[in-house]
Amino acid sequence: MSLELRELYQEVILDHNRRPRNRGKLEEPTGFAEGHNPLCGDNIKVYLHTNEGRVAEVSFEGSGCAISTASASLMTEAIKGKTLEEVEAVFREFQSMVTATGEAEEHPDLGDLEVFGGVREYPVRIKCATLPWHTLKAALQGEEEKVSTE
Ligand code: ZN
Repeated sequence: MSLELRELYQEVILDHNRRPRNRGKLEEPTGFAEGHNPLCGDNIKVYLHTNEGRVAEVSFEGSGCAISTASASLMTEAIKGKTLEEVEAVFREFQSMVTATGEAEEHPDLGDLEVFGGVREYPVRIKCATLPWHTLKAALQGEEEKVSTE
């Protein structure tokens, strides 16, 4: 990855950490889950409104490192308005991007989420980046249990 691109990606992550999008609680969510990453101390709550197989509204609350906060913020932007199948596809691609070994591939379908491509070089950070997604998945499935990366 070029230095310029890396810096641009860091800018996006820092911006979403400073000014998280869709932060807050949704009243009467159709889906809700809490996630925890004990390795880093990240905690997140994801609230959802789904309607006719689409994510109508999504928000999050929580405290965590810059990576987990930015990942949650970018995730909410990426999935709003998408069908559940589309969300599942984005989740799979995101997961494969951050856990891939070997040559880095491009993931143009992921849009801004591609900024997390660099975390694959930092195994401890992968859980920070994927925590919001695992929590989202639990919220979509209506699981009451608390999600933990451990
Ligand atoms: Zn973290």
